[in-house]
Amino acid sequence: MTQIDLREGIVETVRALTAHNLNRGTAGNVSARWNEGFLVTPTGLGCDEMQPGDVVPMAMDGNWEGARKPSSEWRFHRDIYAARPEAGAVVHTHAPFATALACLRADIPPFHYMIARFGGATVRCAAYATFGTQALSDAALAALEGRCACLLANHGMLAFGRDLRQALDLAVEFESLCEQYWRALQIGRPVLLSDAEMETVLEKFRTYGQQ
Ligand code: 13P
Ligand code: ZN
Repeated sequence: MTQIDLREGIVETVRALTAHNLNRGTAGNVSARWNEGFLVTPTGLGCDEMQPGDVVPMAMDGNWEGARKPSSEWRFHRDIYAARPEAGAVVHTHAPFATALACLRADIPPFHYMIARFGGATVRCAAYATFGTQALSDAALAALEGRCACLLANHGMLAFGRDLRQALDLAVEFESLCEQYWRALQIGRPVLLSDAEMETVLEKFRTYGQQ
């Protein structure tokens, strides 16, 4: 994979997020690990405007090169790559259902077995902090402990995967689960799965799918 391929993949992922109704306007950002650092979307550019040449190469110390300023959220992208060696790509969106739930500042409980897809019996909601701050990154990293997705209070969600494809798929699946939870809440009180059942599901996920 060349740097050009990865830049194209990042822009394709940004466009796919808009096509899946996970993002609108300049909300959200995408990155992929590259060499000792990572490539991240530029701040404040909509998906129609963004070209592969706008993607910003960053080092782990926060230095960056090129004509464009990096995403205001580069800190949580950087901190995920530093803390989670399995992370190859990170997707952050203001997807409508995830964001509505994030405004309740509550974890998503095991209302559906697919919650286990994100690593545990809940998907946590990170504590609120102002966008683009180290405090937001610290809150996100704490909520991601043992998980590959979380809500960001009064803000949105993020997901990471081994590559751009997996990070996008996880973000789409997470938004779909948030919609299902939201719908269930409209018609009653969802029955939650027990810890024991979620343990069973987590175990099954270890060997699920094309390994
Ligand atoms: P950027 O345009 O700086 O990536 O910011 C969008 C966003 O979602 C901030 O949280
Ligand atoms: Zn955001």
